[in-house]
Amino acid sequence: MKLNTNDTFNKELPADKNKNNTRRQVLEACYSYVTPKIPGNPELLHVSIEMADALGISKEDVNSEDFLKVFTGAKVLEGSEPFSMCYGGHQFGNWAGQLGDGRAINLTEVVHNDKRWALQLKGAGETPYSRSADGLAVLRSSIREHLCSEAMFHLGVPTTRSLSLSLSGDQVLRDVMYNGNPAYEKGAIVCRVAPSFIRFGNFQIFASRNDKVNLQKLTDYTIKHFFPEINGGTKECYIQFFNAVLDNTLEMVIDWQRVGFVHGVMNTDNMSILGLTIDYGPYGWLEGYENDWTPNTTDSGQRRYRFGNQPSVALWNLYQLANALFLIVEDVKPLEEALERYKIEFVEAKTEMARAKLGLQLKEKEDLALFESLEETLQLTETDMTMFFRLLSNIAKNETAENFIEKTKKAFYKPEELTGDALHNWNVWIAKYLKRLKNETQLDQERKIVMDDVNPKYVLRNYMAQLAIDAADKGDYSIIEELYQLLKQPYLEQVENEKWFAKRPEWARHKVGCSMLSCSS
Ligand code: AMP
Ligand code: MG
Repeated sequence: MKLNTNDTFNKELPADKNKNNTRRQVLEACYSYVTPKIPGNPELLHVSIEMADALGISKEDVNSEDFLKVFTGAKVLEGSEPFSMCYGGHQFGNWAGQLGDGRAINLTEVVHNDKRWALQLKGAGETPYSRSADGLAVLRSSIREHLCSEAMFHLGVPTTRSLSLSLSGDQVLRDVMYNGNPAYEKGAIVCRVAPSFIRFGNFQIFASRNDKVNLQKLTDYTIKHFFPEINGGTKECYIQFFNAVLDNTLEMVIDWQRVGFVHGVMNTDNMSILGLTIDYGPYGWLEGYENDWTPNTTDSGQRRYRFGNQPSVALWNLYQLANALFLIVEDVKPLEEALERYKIEFVEAKTEMARAKLGLQLKEKEDLALFESLEETLQLTETDMTMFFRLLSNIAKNETAENFIEKTKKAFYKPEELTGDALHNWNVWIAKYLKRLKNETQLDQERKIVMDDVNPKYVLRNYMAQLAIDAADKGDYSIIEELYQLLKQPYLEQVENEKWFAKRPEWARHKVGCSMLSCSS
């Protein structure tokens, strides 16, 4: 296997001088060298051929012994110097100090078709940042990360990618729900791919230690490689950089709201500096539309990371990044101005998202209010988000209210609950929407095409991932491939896959893994 490797992070930035794999505080360094753990009996389960292709890895290479070995940590690529990054972060609103890649090891960087990609193993053993944990990952969470990364990419949501999913052949002990019932599970390794895995926390750790020199080195490096339109080196550039990160973050979070994705752990160490969705842990997809929903049982009390709160949390996280960059910007005003701008641009971006989801081409003042009243109406009785918006494109301008409900009925869990106040409120909303549609000049069939490009037909519902996991636990990996293929074209009508355009089955409502997930992965 020939890769066009071109390492920069570990060539241009300061390394930890200590090369031992012992857990410690790492000062004045961006990373520590680590060698992946040799897996007991590695087995390749799934490869994203699109990702392999983007890296210049051929189909023959994917089937080679080398591929299996390199992407499970059994072999270190010649000339490469694997490492784990040092970063800190705010977890659930509190500064947690040094965290770092506790179970991630960066292998190398590859340049192919003028694009830079960093390759990283997740679950390949302990690192200096593993703290009290083992550096490993289990099959269930690795399947979830592999499938969701690629599904998000095909949905058009900025995200880290996944090249491969493998079993390590080792057993890993986990207490899934943190309730004192640990059990052995199959260990797995995912090879994640992104232009860079730098997080807000990489900047925060230096600022927290008042290490201006290294904060500046990291910022200059990030600008040079990933924000080439900014020149770098001056305070003005750092302000431009912060503004660009803010724009990318906003774009990402709006996409999450558009498709109903709930990240689950938006700690600042899980915020990519490139505005990519990163760290697929206890994430979930809205089934019934619910602003308060979070899949993360670890957060079930506070619900800090609930669906409806994600845009505000992104802003809170940007405040923390601004605090870190203040050390080299040395001026509060431009950072505050950027943060104020987020609030204004969020409303604009949400309005655009609302219009797109509702199929409104003209810009009218009340469009956001119309969408927000729909958000409330959708929560009157349990209504599937994905199905509702997908079915909405079938509504004609001259539809009657009864027909509207008939055409979207499949999205309602209990259509019989649509009586009394609920029915009245729906009728009020439907009347407003139909009236608004009449102003549109687009034909019904034209509107449908545009709406279907924005409102996906298929997403990785929590129970779907669980079906793939349950089968894989028994050695059947076919559902992983089936879902992977399905989710490559999430906006396309796939007649043969209509069974995946369905509400969550009742068995999945309260099942661990489907509606309840923890950080234990
Ligand atoms: P996460 O909640 O996955 O974003 O992880 C938060 C922090 O805990 C990061 O520093 C991770 O690297 C670390 N971590 C999570 N799981 C493990 C594990 N199994 N072994 C070592 N470190 C871990
Ligand atoms: Mg993380």
